[in-house]
Parts: sequence; structure tokens; C-alpha cells
Amino acid sequence: MPALSDVIAQLDALWPPERAEEWDAVGTVCGEPGAEVRRVLFAVDPVQEVVDEAVRLGADLLVTHHPLYLRGTTTVAAATFKGRVVHTLIKNDIALHVAHTNADRADPGVSDALAGALDLRITGPLVPDPTDPAGRRGLGRVCELDEPLTLRALADRAAARLPATAQGIRVAGDPDRTVTRVAVCGGSGDSLFAQVRAAGVDAYVTADLRHHPASEARQHSPLGLVDAAHWATEWPWIEQAAAQLDEISDRHGWNLRTHISRTATDPWTAHAASASPSSTPGAPN
Ligand SMILES: [Zn+2]
Repeated sequence: MPALSDVIAQLDALWPPERAEEWDAVGTVCGEPGAEVRRVLFAVDPVQEVVDEAVRLGADLLVTHHPLYLRGTTTVAAATFKGRVVHTLIKNDIALHVAHTNADRADPGVSDALAGALDLRITGPLVPDPTDPAGRRGLGRVCELDEPLTLRALADRAAARLPATAQGIRVAGDPDRTVTRVAVCGGSGDSLFAQVRAAGVDAYVTADLRHHPASEARQHSPLGLVDAAHWATEWPWIEQAAAQLDEISDRHGWNLRTHISRTATDPWTAHAASASPSSTPGAPN
């Protein structure tokens, strides 16, 4: 059985912490370096429901994409919800390790997993990492479809292949527009519109698109937008990450058991559809 420090060393090789954004908080949040690791749970969010799942599984290590403490803290008192997470983890001998923007930029990274879930053929990163001579690392991915789809069919594919959420899939643009080139970015993607425009793609699949960036992007070009829930666009990464650790475990004869959390941690829980998207508020229709 490997020690936690052995497993973390391998995870750091997959997602080097020095490649995280400066504002980010990645790495090990709690855990004894010498503790043995047998069972590992992967999840997007380090929230109480996921930690409870790790306890039920008997996991020794929880790996999440989102940080627990992004901005630092002065308390881990169990009266706070994050402190409760820390207490539950430590009382049950479960380590927590975070790979966030270092996993976004990795090869393979979060957007590779999203492209894979949508059966898109990747041609390169949307925002290449200048420190990668191979030109494979970076934020987002530019992809091609071997068989062109309509924008509607691309959105339907996202709805079918990503985990179900209350939001579902929001679409902007002509649903019958033919899509052959697609940019994808797991998580919040509206800071990358300039690069999406420069890439000359027909559609952009991401999450958390706000009114003004989306509206302005649509004014610039007939770009189709496919907006899924943030959690749903990052969820495919945990399958990819677990498979990567499985492969490492096999290579080292560690016999680790890896698990993927299916607990839905998207904060949005319900959706009320409007009567008609083209109707005027208050007008009879
Ligand atoms: Zn995220």
C-alpha cells in the first residue's frame, strides 16, 4: 500500500502545482504524509455531502477539483461549514487534495475530458501554455467534428452525455447552424471569448456565461453558444483523473481502489421554463 506522500507525488506529476494560477489554492489541504492509502474518491466539490460519501466508502483520500479554502481562513471550527468538512475528514483519517487550475491547464486536463465526453476530436489548446514546447497544454480546447452537427444536435449531445442538472443546456444562436469546429472550456468560460473569436469556431461549449460577454460575443459573429452547468462541464474530469490514478496504481502494483462521486453538487436544484422565449413580459400570447 502506498503512503499518502507517494500518491500525492504522482498526482503532482500529473498536475504540477506550480502551473496553477497565482490566485489559486491547490495541493493537500489535510492528511498525514505517512498514512496508507487504499481507497480514493474523486469529486468536483469538497462539500459535506461528498465528504460524507468518502466516509461511507471508507476512502483514505478525497481528490477534488475545487479548493476548500481559496482565500485563506483564521478558523476551522466545526461551527462553520468548511470547518465541519475539515473535522469530518480528519476524524475519519481522510486526506483532501485539490487540483484546480493546474488540472485545467494539464495535458490531459479538464477540457480534454469535456471534449472526450462530447466525442470531439481535439486539434489543440484554445489558449496555449507558452511554456509547453509540444503545444498541448493550456486552457480550453479547439476541436473538430468528423461529422458536422447542427447547433441543436450539439446541445442535445451535451444534454445526453453530461450529468443531468436543473439548468440543463442553454443555447444561443441559430439552432440549425452547421457546426464543424467547436471550442470547449470546462468551468466558467466567458473570459476566453477573444480567443474563441480568434479560433474561428462555429460554437463554444462552456459554463457560467453572463449576459454581457455572451451578448457581445453574439454581436461580433454568429457563434453558437452551448452553456451547461459549471459542475456538469467539470465532472468528466473526475472520470479521467480516476483512470489516470488507476493506471499509476497498476504500474506501481499499489492495488488502489478508485471511485467517482456521483453526488450532484451543482448548487442549482430546480428550473422553471418560461412560457415562450420570444414572448414579451406581460403580453398575452
Ligand atoms: Zn470549476
